[in-house]
This record gives sequence, C-alpha cells and structure tokens, in this order.
Amino acid sequence: VESGMEEIPVKVAVRVRPLLSKEILHNHQVCVRLVPNAKQVIIGKDHVFTFDFVFGKNSTQEEVYAVCIKPLLVSLTEGYNATVFAYGQTGSGKTYTIGGDHIASAAVDERGIIPRAIQELFNHISEHRNINFCVKVSYIEVYKEELRDLLDLETSVKELHIREDEKGNTVIVGAKEFQVECADEVISLLESGNAARHTGTTQKNEHSSRSHAIFTISVCQKQSAQYQKNTDVAQDPIASKFHFVDLAGSERVAKTGNTGERFKESVQINSGLLALGNVISALGDPKRKSVHIPYRDAKITRILKDSLGGNAKTVMITCISPSSLDFDESLNSLKYANRAKNIRNKPVVNYNPEKDRIDEMELEIRLLREALQSQQVNNQHLHDLNEEKARISSLEEQLTRLQVQYFSYRNCVDEAFPFLVDLNDDVSLRRSQRDRLQSWITMVQKVRKEALTIQETDTGTETSPVPHHITILQLKRELKKCQILQNQIKTLLQEKEEQQDFLKEAQETQRLQLKMKLEKFTDVKALDFSSAYEDGAAVMAFARRPYSVPVTKNLLRPLHLTSGTEIQKGYTSPPVLSLAQIMAEFHVRRQIILSKLEDQDKVLHHCLSDQSDEEEDNTGSEEKTSYKHSINRTWTQNHTSLYFLPDVSDIKRQVDKSDLSNKSALQTDTTTGEEIDSLQKIHVFNMQKLKNSELRLAEAEQKIRELALNIKKKEELIKELVRTG
Ligand code: ADP
Ligand code: MG
Repeated sequence: VESGMEEIPVKVAVRVRPLLSKEILHNHQVCVRLVPNAKQVIIGKDHVFTFDFVFGKNSTQEEVYAVCIKPLLVSLTEGYNATVFAYGQTGSGKTYTIGGDHIASAAVDERGIIPRAIQELFNHISEHRNINFCVKVSYIEVYKEELRDLLDLETSVKELHIREDEKGNTVIVGAKEFQVECADEVISLLESGNAARHTGTTQKNEHSSRSHAIFTISVCQKQSAQYQKNTDVAQDPIASKFHFVDLAGSERVAKTGNTGERFKESVQINSGLLALGNVISALGDPKRKSVHIPYRDAKITRILKDSLGGNAKTVMITCISPSSLDFDESLNSLKYANRAKNIRNKPVVNYNPEKDRIDEMELEIRLLREALQSQQVNNQHLHDLNEEKARISSLEEQLTRLQVQYFSYRNCVDEAFPFLVDLNDDVSLRRSQRDRLQSWITMVQKVRKEALTIQETDTGTETSPVPHHITILQLKRELKKCQILQNQIKTLLQEKEEQQDFLKEAQETQRLQLKMKLEKFTDVKALDFSSAYEDGAAVMAFARRPYSVPVTKNLLRPLHLTSGTEIQKGYTSPPVLSLAQIMAEFHVRRQIILSKLEDQDKVLHHCLSDQSDEEEDNTGSEEKTSYKHSINRTWTQNHTSLYFLPDVSDIKRQVDKSDLSNKSALQTDTTTGEEIDSLQKIHVFNMQKLKNSELRLAEAEQKIRELALNIKKKEELIKELVRTG
C-alpha cells in the first residue's frame, strides 16, 4: 500500500474557512463541519466526504503549509516538479490560502503558501553553499483560454505559446522569466504581477474569479565547481519547478443560465476546470497507465502537464465556505474534490441516512465531550488559582507573624545587649561565665551585622515584598487609630447634642420664669399701656400669645421688622412705656430664638432620618455610610449655625440697647429690672456657651472629615498594595 501511495501524484485537501464577519452579521448558519480526527467533512445532514487532509475554521496558515506544502518543497529541491491548486467558489478562500495577494501588507501569521514556500526555498539555498542555485519566476494568467504575461504586459497574447521540449517539459514560449536572488525580490515581482492582473478591470474580484493565475518558481541547481573537483563525473544540472495556481471561481461550473459573452466565458472556464478535474481524476486512477490523460483539453492542463503526473507531486486544496447559503456550491466543490481524491480504499457510506445521523450524533457527543473536558480543565485551573491565592495569603499571614516575632526578639536583644555589656565590665564573673557572655556578645554583633547587610540588599531591590507588608501593617495600624478617633468624635458629637438639650431646658426654665415675671409686671402696667399707646393692645396680644402655638419664620419676619420700628418709637416715649416696649421686644426676640432652636432640631432630626432611607440603596459599606452621614450632618449644622450666629450677636446688640433704656426704667422698678438684668446675663452666658459648643462642634466635624478622607485614602492604598501583591 505504501509504495502504491507513493505513486499517487495528487493529494486532495479541503479547507473550510470560518464564517466571515459579514456572514455572522447576517446570521448565516454553518452547514459544513469536520469530524474530529477523521479527515472527514460533513455537509448538511447526510453528506460525508473523506480526504487526504482536512482543515477546519481554526486551521492556521502555518498548519496548512506545514502539512500540505512542505513535502512538495522538499521534492522541488530534490528535483521534482510540484503544483498546488486552490479550487473553490469565489470567496471561499483560494487567494487567502495560496497567499498570492497582499503579501507585503499581510501579518506574518496571515501569510499564505507562496511567501512561506519562497522563504523556505531561500533558507534551503543559504544552507547549501556547495550548490549553485538559479531561481527564476514567471507569472501568467489564463483568461478565456488565452495566456497573459503578468510580469510583462508589453508581451501580446499572440506571442505566448505552450510547447513541449524533447524531454517532455512544458515551456511557455515568450513568457518572461525573472532571475531572482532573494525572497523579497520574488515578493515584489508577485506584487507587480497582481497589480497587472487588476488593470483593465473595474472590479478585481470580478476578473480574478474568471481567470486562472499561475505563479511559477523554476529552480536550477548545479554542484559548485570547487566541490566537483574531486569527482570524475561532472553532474548534470537539475531543473525543477513549482506552480502555485489560483484557479477561477468554480461557481460557474454549476451555473448554466448564462448567455452571450458570459455564456462563452463560463463555458471556457467550465472547460478549464472540467479538464483539470478529468486530468486529476484520471491521474488518481490506479490503472492510469492504460487510461488516456486528457491534458490537451484546456490551456491550464497543457501548461501544467509536466507537473501533473510522472514524478510530480500535486496538492489540490479545495476551499469551502461554511455558510448554509453556499450549500450548493460547497457540495459541488466537495464532489469535484472527491472525484480527484486518491483514497479509494475507504468508500464513504452516505446512502444510509440513519448511519449519518448516528455519525452526526457521535460527532456531537465527541464535540460536547471535548467542550466538557476543556471546561473541566478550566475549572481545575480556577480551583488551582484559588488554592494558590489561599496559600499566598496564609504565607503572608505567616510572614507577618514572623515579622512581629522578629521585631519583639530584636527588641529583647537590643534591650539586653548594652546591659550585659555593662555587666561584663562591672561585675566580677567567673571565668566560664565571662567567656559565655563574651561569646554571646560576639554572636549578637555578628547577627546584627548580617541583618544589616540583608536589609541593605533588601532596600536595594525594589521588588522585594517585605516593605509592602510592613507598609500594609503600618497602614492597618493607622487605620485602627483613625477608627478609634472616629469613635471618640462620635461620642463627642453625642455629648454636644446632650449639651444642646441641656441648654434648651435651661432656656425653657428661663423662659417660664420670665413669663411669670412679665405677667406680674404687665398685670400692674396694663392700663398704662392701653391708654398711652394706640396699638398697645396688639402688642399685648402678641406678648400673651401662647408658646405652644408654632411660630413660623415667615410669620416672625414681618413681626421682627415692626418690633424694630417700635423700638425707635420707644426711645421718644416716656420711660415706663419704653420699658414695656423693651419687654415686649425682648419677648419677641426670645420667641424667635426659641422657634429657631426648635426648627433647627427639627431640621436636624428630619435630615438624619431622611438620610438613612436615602442611603439604603446607594451605599456598600458601613464605613462609607457613616462617612457620608457625618459629612451631611456637618453640612446641616454648619448651615443652621451660620444662620443662627448673626442672631446671637443681634440679640446681644438688643440686650445692650435695652441695658441703656433699662437704666432709666430701673428708677421706677428696680427689683424687676435687676431680675431681668440677671436673666439677660444668664441668657447671654448661655448663648456664649452655645456658640462655643458650636465652634467646637465645627472643629470636631472638620477633623472627622479630614480623618474620613485619610481613612478612605489609606483603604485605597491598602487595596492597591494587596492587589499588586
Ligand atoms: P477567493 O480567492 O476564493 O475568492 P478569498 O481568498 O479572497 O476567496 O477569501 C474571501 C474572504 O475570506 C477574504 O476576506 C479572506 O480574508 C477570507 N478568508 C478566506 N479564508 C479564510 C480563513 N481560512 N480564515 C480567515 N479568513 C479567511
Ligand atoms: Mg481569489
């Protein structure tokens, strides 16, 4: 069988390209699949084909080259002719696979067969300095059964003829052959040929899908003269060539609806591809020696005659689109390739649909099993990774513990060392004791020296993990401190609130006292007021206004203003009247303050309860909540205090003013005046206290904000340090 295989000149490969992005975009379905490890292709539900080589959508250019073409290149250097065809419908990947286009611009991995073969040929040449190589290239095109020289457009079609020399080699008379010295030269010639192929046609693809392009490398090798000296027999030069053929699109073979010029064209393309198919299948016939090989039927087969058959090696790569929209063309291509293939000992059973279905299911099972396996491998990886992470963190913990231990030991030694040195000098020890102490001291000194050098090398290398751990430890300690401080601030805040409550209570009692006094006072002076002053009744009504009625700011503001004008009026009035006015004014003032205090508390309470609701959905950690909380609270309190403080000074001003007028008023009622005075003093004192508290509160809040920011920064730093390991 092996020797029989050796004789078979044509190997058939099938390459199924992946779906192109535009096909994926249009939701094309795949209708061609490979059977793993079986060199088989399934198209649709029930068509299975077996080939010499099968390449799937994930096959690489390198893989295709290494499997199919490398052996041909070896043959070439041994003196055999070789040919590679790319067959298939337009857009199936012929040019991509042959690699005849966009060579210079293509990424190295994406390069197709031609540039790879050229590279390898020149590598071979440079490795065999004892042989003189002569490499020539030509590039021709067969379009409508006419030849065109792509390397020399001046050459007219009529000047090119296919001849056979006396040895049976095919020669294209008139075709330009360029001698080349390196791979780059070949590639630039190829590129210029491609450019020529594109001229004269508006659409390159339209043209290339109807013409065959044949790029040929001819190699002539001869033993160098210096190596020939020793041998008596002069060796003949060896000549061989390699054709790279990008065939016309195969789709027109199946389509017979074309008429006129197109019909002629399609017939001509048909004839070329059909002739090629016939030649290839005849070559694959085991009894081919007795079979007529129809080379003369088409130009393409005539040109390739010496590369098809004999000792020549040929690979046909059938390119297939996987899209279900191309099902007909792909099936035809596979049938064509099947006709050319030489494997006759493995008849493909595709008549039994049930068997096919079983095959398909088996394939699916196999694919699923493979997927499962890779999944398991992935899971294993994940598991390993987690274990690794756990190990690292436990090691880190261990390291930290050891570091702590190390520090404490070092501290002990550092403490003991000077003491024992002193002891060594002062106390009279026994000789053995002294020796032991001395040796201990030397040991410590040695260890210290070593530690110092280690530390130096440590600090020298920045990648050492130890400083990071220490930094993390320090940062963690600082974070703890910060948290403790935060707690302290919280208790401080609580105290502040308690103090405020206390203040409020004090004010309440003061208010009640004042009320009692005022009632006593106004009962006595009521008559005077109503008779001497027009709107005295209104003032009285207001002065007696029950405190339980909430006084809104909007209501208070105009009252505040009118009371201001009343004071001015009061200065021009008799002393008794002015005292009453002052009292009323004082009363109004106090009420404003109290209502503001109440409002402030309400706002605070409202704000706090609101916030907790709000934050439920947008906070992650508790710390963050408290952080935000404190910020918000700060804002509210600052806000209220800003708006409260001017009032305090305002009140003080008012108190000073009333002091002035009180002096005259006191002449008539000293006792009440004194009491009011003391009450006012208490009030001022309380206000001062409140102000101080607020200042302290503001300071504390500022500190909290700073600390919170600090904590946040440090947390981020720790996270970053942990993340970067
Ligand atoms: P043909 O020469 O048969 O008309 P092309 O070689 O021009 O087809 O290929 C058509 C398109 O498909 C091109 O864009 C090409 O890059 C892409 N293509 C072909 N084969 C493959 C493959 N194996 N992998 C990725 N893309 C491919
Ligand atoms: Mg092409």
